[in-house]
Amino acid sequence: MNISPSFPEDDTSVGLYIHVPFCKARCSYCGFVSNIHSLDLEERYLRSVAAEIGLRAGDHMAGGAALSCDTIYFGGGTASLLPPDKVLRVIETCKTWFEISDHPEITIEINPGTVDRSCLSQFIHAGVNRVSLGVQSLVNAELAAMGRLHDSSQALSAYRDLRQAGFDNVSVDLIAGFPGQTVESVRHSLRLILELRPEHLSVYLLEIKSGTRLAAMMAAGAVPPQDEDMVADMYDEICEITVNAGYEQYEISNFAVPGRFSRHNMKYWTDQVYIGFGPGAHGMTGRHRYANMESLDLYEQALDKGFLPVETVTEMTPEMRFKDALIMGLRLVKGIDLDLIARRYGVDARAFVLETIGDLQSFGLFEIRKNTLRLTAKGRLLSNVVFGRWV
Ligand code: SF4
Repeated sequence: MNISPSFPEDDTSVGLYIHVPFCKARCSYCGFVSNIHSLDLEERYLRSVAAEIGLRAGDHMAGGAALSCDTIYFGGGTASLLPPDKVLRVIETCKTWFEISDHPEITIEINPGTVDRSCLSQFIHAGVNRVSLGVQSLVNAELAAMGRLHDSSQALSAYRDLRQAGFDNVSVDLIAGFPGQTVESVRHSLRLILELRPEHLSVYLLEIKSGTRLAAMMAAGAVPPQDEDMVADMYDEICEITVNAGYEQYEISNFAVPGRFSRHNMKYWTDQVYIGFGPGAHGMTGRHRYANMESLDLYEQALDKGFLPVETVTEMTPEMRFKDALIMGLRLVKGIDLDLIARRYGVDARAFVLETIGDLQSFGLFEIRKNTLRLTAKGRLLSNVVFGRWV
């Protein structure tokens, strides 16, 4: 394909993602990079992640000015296993190497099972101003089957503790499609969550990942398979109930009250640069996409020798980046401005779309109105069918 891009936006603020690779115990469905937490591992991790931040920032500066940054996201793993003074240490390291904007969004994921209420206000003093709380369900039998560390009352009191500590920007995570969940049980959890009025809600339709305990249990017949029709019904209901409660669905899995979109995650969906640090973290620097080594030992060894701890680095051709921009941008409910992306990539975006997925329009998976390409509600549920054409 003929493509001649220009990326002036790459010079704007980047997002920093800090992967904290520890958990207290492993959830049954988990396929993330995570180790069982210990203080010794935590200290080794902190030393290495500081080294990686310096190394990557130096790489980007190449003798020039520091990159500016307006979002930092501590994810995991269980990011809240890092105490506030250590979170502050990482933020200070970021400030040393990046030009942090005046009002950055700094998010930390908190597991209700590891929350220490006396620490919460210290996170705010460290600069954290947004929390993503991993509630997942408010049905105790489901939480137990998921292997979560908390029950529903702990999740609810963690939420109250966050509010009492002063957090005014809280996102709640909910899982849908876990084996055994029903439309009624998800509706029950959702209603309780919406009564709390979090600023943001993320709903994850569970994908069973190979290598997880859940996948093994399913293969052994100990857990029923997912009922795809029921998951589709759950998704429809979740969208309807949440939108009726005054939230805007702005992305396939994300809802927010006005003005509270996740600024960090918007970078992923709007073709912007983000830099990931920590074992297993991913990044997209504009010219390259990379994934870090997952093993904490190998990650540490690489940094001790002064190397970037990368497992894979992919040079992003303009064509790859264009397709990524389509895939990620179509996750947004408002869709993509075809004229904008055409200018950015110097390509006839409309012709490309019609040529590659035009036949899916008659199945009602997407629509083009004026210059906007967007998935329909059905298309959002079947987004993998659309995106599969471009990978
Ligand atoms: S808390 Fe998150 S990262 Fe840790 S085991 Fe559970 S799902 Fe995985």
